[in-house]
Amino acid sequence: MSEIGLHHVTAFSGPAARNRDFYTRVLGLRLVKTTVNFDDPGTYHLYYGDEAGQPGTLLTFFPIAHAAAGRVGVGETQETAFRVPRASIGWWVHRFVAMNVDHQAPSSAFGEPTLRFRDPDGMRLALVGVEEAGPAPTRDGGDVPAEHALRGLHGVTLLLAEAGPTAAILTDGLGFREAARDGASIRYAGSAAAGGFVTLATAADRSSGRPGAGSVHHIAFRAADDAAQAATVDRLSTHHRLAVTEQRDRQYFRSVYFREPGGVLFEIATDVPGFTVDEPLATLGSALKLPAGLEPHRARIAAALPDLA
Ligand code: ZN
Repeated sequence: MSEIGLHHVTAFSGPAARNRDFYTRVLGLRLVKTTVNFDDPGTYHLYYGDEAGQPGTLLTFFPIAHAAAGRVGVGETQETAFRVPRASIGWWVHRFVAMNVDHQAPSSAFGEPTLRFRDPDGMRLALVGVEEAGPAPTRDGGDVPAEHALRGLHGVTLLLAEAGPTAAILTDGLGFREAARDGASIRYAGSAAAGGFVTLATAADRSSGRPGAGSVHHIAFRAADDAAQAATVDRLSTHHRLAVTEQRDRQYFRSVYFREPGGVLFEIATDVPGFTVDEPLATLGSALKLPAGLEPHRARIAAALPDLA
């Protein structure tokens, strides 16, 4: 039985070192994998998450040093949110002030305290205070105390021209259920504690976005294994006539992709094999890892990548 929820969110960023510093040093996430974009090995693919990089905790980036800023529009992910304990929101406000992080005053969304902020590329992010945040991580997250540490993704908000067609994919296709409404936004809940929410927001202004630094490329949902993924693909192609790609081996998970009717690129990624498949838990993210097919070109690939140090 698969957990219903997000596996990861993948976005574009500006310079790799600045991106790494923000997510590890300011937010206290762990860099759990340093690899390249398998479809474009001249670009890093950096994965941030909890200690083991568990599904539902992952935000990943393709850093492009001189990327122009993206702009959010319909058919795109508008906001990516992480969970923190409800009592930690105030601590994070102080941290963002002290570290000059662009942020708004905390507000309430769906009855939960929400601290909206942006990363150095202007990517729209939020911390959502939840009652059941789960145990504090055992790993040292730099100077972020474990009690205030991020507890994985909360969810994403998609900006759409109309909610209905995307809602049908989320519910019938992927197993989410409608959980709440707040103004014009509808929240759908899965079963996973981390990454369990997708909120659909509709926009009166239908202008489309522009991909660039700070914009989300795709969002990925969880499948326990290949069989669960295949069953979901069958449902999506039979009931919803969606064109789903062949499975691609992403080394740490296996993926299929499709564009949902609202325009957002969706992925379904397996929970297996995970990030310890090619390096031990203790040293995750510390060395450049390449899939077997790219390993013969390691010297040339590594020489072309920007310095992360
Ligand atoms: Zn992905």
